[in-house]
Amino acid sequence: MTARNHPVDPAPGGMKLIVAIDGPAGAGKSTVARQLAKRFGLLNLETGAMYRAFALKALRLEVPLSDAKALEQLSEDTVIRLETGETENRVLLDEEDVTGLIRNPEVTDAASRVSVFPSIRAWMVRLQQRMGEDGGVVMEGRDIGTVVFPQAEVKIFLDAAPEVRGMRRFDQLGPGATVQPEEVLRDLRARDERDRNRADSPLKPAPDAILLDSTRMTLDEVVQAAESIVEARLHALSAR
Ligand code: C5P
Repeated sequence: MTARNHPVDPAPGGMKLIVAIDGPAGAGKSTVARQLAKRFGLLNLETGAMYRAFALKALRLEVPLSDAKALEQLSEDTVIRLETGETENRVLLDEEDVTGLIRNPEVTDAASRVSVFPSIRAWMVRLQQRMGEDGGVVMEGRDIGTVVFPQAEVKIFLDAAPEVRGMRRFDQLGPGATVQPEEVLRDLRARDERDRNRADSPLKPAPDAILLDSTRMTLDEVVQAAESIVEARLHALSAR
């Protein structure tokens, strides 16, 4: 079970809003979700961190990442919780804080592999639905608007050209980066490919999602555009 660890502030007008943000890696989802959470008093829940935590456990226990049955059994014995903080989520794997251990390339790749299996997705979706059931959340991932919360009041699909997303990811590594930008772009394309082409819940915009292409925008501009989308939606809902 995942418990809320601080109260949900209602959005303006007392509305318990669900904002779904989907899109590929490096499109700016985390920054946008964090800013929207701050601005509208919502809990920010990063679902990718949950897949990452589970992938870390599979790697540690050397469970083959292609063995659906073994992964399913592992999931039955795993508790993953997200706690919301000021800047990012704390991720608890069987009550161990693994927040600092899940962003490296090995776990990143493994997360994208374990997330193709329907039984793993069904388990994650159940957890995520429970976390967001009271509303007052901005949830980001790949299938939030299509599968986890198809009834979300606001759905944003954030995208950008792969080269731009790859460079953003490379820049985030800072001066200590030990990989070349080409390698970052190659890994990102491989993950995109898996996410978009998997049979279960492939990455795609919900039919009613608003598409935001951030290729030629700064992150500040993307945040502003997303804020305007939420405001317009709140306005439309309160006028009903
Ligand atoms: O968002 P993030 O890059 O942290 O996600 C890690 C991986 O988890 C993604 O590459 C994707 O394969 C998977 N994922 C998913 N569905 C989500 C969130 C993440 O399949 N809702």
